[in-house]
Amino acid sequence: MATPLEIRHDQSLRDLNTFGIDAKAASYLRVGSVDDLRALRADPVLSALPRLVLGGGSNLLLTRDVDGLVLHMASRGIAVIGEDDAQVIVAAQAGENWHGLVQWTLAHGFAGLENLSLIPGSVGASPIQNIGAYGSELAEHFHSLLAFDFATGDVIALDKRDCAFGYRDSVFKHALRDRTVILEVRFALPKRWQANLRYAELASEVAARGLVRPTAQDISDAVTAIRRRKLPDPAVTGNAGSFFKNPVVSAAKRNELLARHPALVSYAQADGSYKLAAGWLIDQCGWKGKSLGAAGVHEKQALVLVNRGGARGVEILQLAQKIRADVLANYGVAIEPEPVIL
Ligand SMILES: Cc1cc2nc3c(=O)[nH]c(=O)nc-3n(C[C@H](O)[C@H](O)[C@H](O)COP(=O)(O)OP(=O)(O)OC[C@H]3O[C@@H](n4cnc5c(N)ncnc54)[C@H](O)[C@@H]3O)c2cc1C
Repeated sequence: MATPLEIRHDQSLRDLNTFGIDAKAASYLRVGSVDDLRALRADPVLSALPRLVLGGGSNLLLTRDVDGLVLHMASRGIAVIGEDDAQVIVAAQAGENWHGLVQWTLAHGFAGLENLSLIPGSVGASPIQNIGAYGSELAEHFHSLLAFDFATGDVIALDKRDCAFGYRDSVFKHALRDRTVILEVRFALPKRWQANLRYAELASEVAARGLVRPTAQDISDAVTAIRRRKLPDPAVTGNAGSFFKNPVVSAAKRNELLARHPALVSYAQADGSYKLAAGWLIDQCGWKGKSLGAAGVHEKQALVLVNRGGARGVEILQLAQKIRADVLANYGVAIEPEPVIL
């Protein structure tokens, strides 16, 4: 007979989200394997509850208690599952820590994920917003994934095309939203590797370290050092990393802004549009280091909103709304939040 699911009630989520927001889940289940999801789907009461899949809670702003069921991904395991002349395929379970996976690949001599070192959160969440940093993004070395489909009860395999990755975007934010739980993510890591130093700040850090032919581990160490210098550690100061996505505007809009603000920070995109640095826009509106109650804007990085201690989710949201309104009024650009807001 199958073991009954261990549902907990009124579970505090304070230590399970990096903002450190003190919200509760009406029901909570640690998901160790797909069997738990099958049992859940077969239960008429539990399967009717609204669900929130939770990894490391590092891209989430909880503005209220969760009425339904939190599915906390706790599956573990990393293994090489295939290889050819060009690449190694590594599979990791959803509940694995992302940075732990990066370190595992480097320790086993597999390069490719090093630019994404120290991004908080779980492996299972990494495809949701196609995590990216320092000139790379998940899609670059993504092979495929397995997901449980609540609609059918099947485990489905999705390749890169199925996932429709974009800038902080994927099919899981659209057609498959609230329908699938990612179980396993597979990466294709190249045997012939070249350092990716496209991101200027990373290239300078590597140069400053006197590294002429950096290894993947050297790149990981450099990324880790930059991130530690720039970003608040969620274990010390609650935050969810960048709170806003960098807005993408037309060339005409960018040129109009550049004429008025010669210091505007923008990056040309392949399709002729421009990505604007949201952090620069927020900083120019005077928000860096400011606070509204216990919600604040980080002193070093205007893109990061922080919990200065005991902030409620709604306070952080109100601060975000004020910042958004200011950027819109001053620059005519709408900036959108990156974390999932609940
Ligand atoms: C200090 C800091 C720095 C950061 N830097 C970066 C960065 O450089 N680049 C970047 O891209 N992000 C960054 N982030 C954001 C965050 O780390 C990533 O978005 C990460 O992938 C979130 O993982 P998580 O497990 O914490 O997801 P959670 O916050 O738990 O969940 C996020 C979303 O994914 C869904 N989800 C989670 N797991 C699954 C699953 N197995 N199946 C289906 N849905 C799932 C959740 O329902 C939710 O909608 C940063 C965050 C912090 C706190």
